[in-house]
Amino acid sequence: MLVDSPAVLEDAMGKRGRPRIDLTGQRFGRLVVVSLEKSPRSRPHWRCVCDCGEQRVVYGYSLTSGRTVSCGCFKVAFATLLNLSHGHTRGRSQSPEYSVWEAMIQRGTNPKNRDWKNYGGRGITVCSRWLQFSNFLADMGRRPSPNLSLERVNNDLGYSAENCKWATRKEQRANQRPARKKAA
Ligand SMILES: [Zn+2]
Repeated sequence: MLVDSPAVLEDAMGKRGRPRIDLTGQRFGRLVVVSLEKSPRSRPHWRCVCDCGEQRVVYGYSLTSGRTVSCGCFKVAFATLLNLSHGHTRGRSQSPEYSVWEAMIQRGTNPKNRDWKNYGGRGITVCSRWLQFSNFLADMGRRPSPNLSLERVNNDLGYSAENCKWATRKEQRANQRPARKKAA
């Protein structure tokens, strides 16, 4: 742990007992900061609401460092990754749907994932229902063809049955980089 990193120093309380940085309204993974938690502690703690509806009080540095990204509901997803694959993993080989689901969970819920900053880090997360692989499979079905991948219809929204479809990579790229509209 980097105890003396600038982020930690910046996160300490200022002279008047107010935090040096205001995190109110900011999103960290599935958590949105709603208020500063009144406490005698020397470091600011923040009350957060998770996308699943739970509330948590979290130390500011845990948020800004990416260590805490949910109320704990993501742990459900990781437990599922490790244990329950519903016959879609056999030894080291996985079904395509399971691989797609695992990659989605990783970039949407794991701050250590290399794609996290473009997904979970900017609020592109996974709906609570899809933290279970069996629900994801029930909603999306088997991948119809090997050249299809999971696409979000609205690129600013997260992963859910309402916002996802199987699409070709070509369709997906077109969606990610919409043609620029001419200025009027
Ligand atoms: Zn939660």
